[in-house]
Amino acid sequence: MAEKKDLNYFVTARIEGVVQGVGFRPFTARLASFYNIKGFVKNESDNVYIEAAGSKEDLLLFLNNIRNSPPAGSKIIIFDISPIEQDEVCFEDFKIIKSTEGKFNLAMPSPDISICGDCLRELFAKDDPRYLNPFISCTNCGPRFTIINKLPYDRGNTTMGEFPLCGLCDFQYKDTADRRCHAQTVCCNKCGPVLTFFDRALTVEGYDALERAVKTIMNGGIIAVKGIGGYHLACSPYEDKTVNNLRLLKGREEKPFAIMFPSIEEIEKLCFINKAESALLLSREKPIVLLERKDTDFSERVYGSSRFLGAFLPYTPLHHLILSKTGPLIMTSANSTTLPIIKDDDEIKKFFIDNNLLDGVISHDRCILRRVDDSVAAVIDGHTQLIRRARGYVPLPIKTSLNNRISILACGSQQKNTTSLSFGSLIYPSTEIGDLDSRETISVYKDTIDDMQKLLGISPTLAVCDLHPLYESTKYALTAGLPVIKVQHHFAHIASVMAENNITSSIIGVAFDGTGYGTDGTIWGGEFLIASPASFTRVGHLKSVKFIGSDDSIKQGWKSALCLLSDAGLAPQSDNAREKLVRAALNSDINTIMSSSMGRVFDAVSSILGICHESGYEGQCAIELENAAAKCMNISSEPTPYPFNINSENEMFIADLSPCLRSIMKAKEEGEEAGFIALRFHSTVCQLILDMCKILREKYDINTVALSGGVFQNRIILSGSFSLLQKDGFKVYTNAIVPPGDGGISLGQAYIGLATASAKEK
Ligand code: ZN
Ligand code: FE
Repeated sequence: MAEKKDLNYFVTARIEGVVQGVGFRPFTARLASFYNIKGFVKNESDNVYIEAAGSKEDLLLFLNNIRNSPPAGSKIIIFDISPIEQDEVCFEDFKIIKSTEGKFNLAMPSPDISICGDCLRELFAKDDPRYLNPFISCTNCGPRFTIINKLPYDRGNTTMGEFPLCGLCDFQYKDTADRRCHAQTVCCNKCGPVLTFFDRALTVEGYDALERAVKTIMNGGIIAVKGIGGYHLACSPYEDKTVNNLRLLKGREEKPFAIMFPSIEEIEKLCFINKAESALLLSREKPIVLLERKDTDFSERVYGSSRFLGAFLPYTPLHHLILSKTGPLIMTSANSTTLPIIKDDDEIKKFFIDNNLLDGVISHDRCILRRVDDSVAAVIDGHTQLIRRARGYVPLPIKTSLNNRISILACGSQQKNTTSLSFGSLIYPSTEIGDLDSRETISVYKDTIDDMQKLLGISPTLAVCDLHPLYESTKYALTAGLPVIKVQHHFAHIASVMAENNITSSIIGVAFDGTGYGTDGTIWGGEFLIASPASFTRVGHLKSVKFIGSDDSIKQGWKSALCLLSDAGLAPQSDNAREKLVRAALNSDINTIMSSSMGRVFDAVSSILGICHESGYEGQCAIELENAAAKCMNISSEPTPYPFNINSENEMFIADLSPCLRSIMKAKEEGEEAGFIALRFHSTVCQLILDMCKILREKYDINTVALSGGVFQNRIILSGSFSLLQKDGFKVYTNAIVPPGDGGISLGQAYIGLATASAKEK
């Protein structure tokens, strides 16, 4: 019998994950041509579908190559191959064919991707058809998530759909050998969006717009720059006057600004960068990275007393065009502090008209569909920590080890809100929306929930929310028309670590933050839990102390100090009028709450040491306390902790920091340096974590610890407690994919929801 000839093997492959908008189809077509494979590839609404024919050997190589080295921006989650033997194969060549609406399994729109190296070279190459084109992009780079109307990711479904392709772009779009084959965002100097600039005198287009924008910045002005997920406000960081104007414009008095630098070399001049930090700065996500700074010639109004500088690199061609002429710029989201970032052209026009301190706007006619802020990250002991998970990361899901048919809507926290949607074993956290304190932000919150459901094609059947009755997210959940599970705040923090690390067994959870509603109606925030994905028990906590409860008081470290010192019997009897008022309120229980918050202890110590008495932005007292401590780290690498007590009351271990406060007061009286006292306070907290975990390990026979909550953004605490625990044989987990702060709450809620739903089914 004659041997079967070359093209006699026939397979179908369905590939799911981030496979659309990353050049998967042209990549497949190029491989097919290399391995002499016939057939086709197409996008289905949620996956890439291939039918391929070739010799057995070629097919194997072809499929292995796709699986093992897919395009840079892709992420394969499922790779299904079904071989079918056919006698006759009717493919003559290999084609990219029209997308179809496939069956809906999992949807994975790509995050926005920063400009790639190839496009950057072409941007500044005089003979290139896209020379100085602010919209240059290819299959490896460009906006994605912020321009997709719906899946599949095809040009017609994006805000690039309204720009017809010119001859050249059309040719490259169809040429499987070209880097721009099926690049949905492709355009050039002859086609695509147009840059505009307007100020109070004129409106100009194209290259003139760029020049005018640069000139405005060089003259000390502030301009708005249209970016990926919204507008930035941009200005030079060198002059006090300019930076002060920006602070007035934003209504932001003290919080440090991030700086965009033209290159990593420029960052290196002003900041210390290790390998992990440089990799993060250069990554395709291009987050703002908090770096330890050197002395700079910037205005001090940029970063105040912070020892860090938030630095990032240009991620759009327009950024490169501007920064190549201006040098480093402050780039901060365009909005008044506390309001959502501005993304629409009408909105920015209104903002411009209303604000004389804004000198101009550089914009274009490619629409932004979704608000996405810049992501913020830090590297602590070589590990990346996301402080804000947004552009570049969203909407990638987290694959968990739980799985359920029920789809969950996790409504998140009140501050730094994110929401999450689950589908099967995947959880999709939204971009960080902000604090749900204004009408505008709440409206964006609701829109985000609707939009994520529509884009991902997920219809949740169960809502999960916080226990706090007054959180806007709780109120939303209760009116969403779904069954609701309420989840304790600190349990959700710990569950976010469990979700990230596929933990399904019981662990010791250490959740330290500012506030969270407890199951006993008091405010928690210094919690030790025994937690599994479906349930938790509070087994230890910081001693609950009477605080003044109003919103303002939370920002006022001096008030927290007075409350803590009063509780410990250490409060100085001063004649100061405002202190008298606080004492009176405490004595007669006016507007007081009981709280075990660790965050407020940090604020209090900051004030006791005279470092910061009131937070002008979230966490300022604690951040400045950490800064002061860090400055003394070279004096002593292992500062002695102050004393504290751990008492046992009815199965509950209670940590009492009164002895520590007494020592702090004494050290202060003896004139010890505030920074050094701050450092010893930090090591006290680390020691407290270790001692408590050892007690719990003994009692519950659990050796695994998860650390979460906003306090673990403190580098000294995170790295100090991590290494103490590790040295003592604990297995320690922390957050890396979502923030340890409240931005991570919705992931934890969704994970608990999945586990609870599964437990109920059983
Ligand atoms: Zn590119
Ligand atoms: Fe929290």
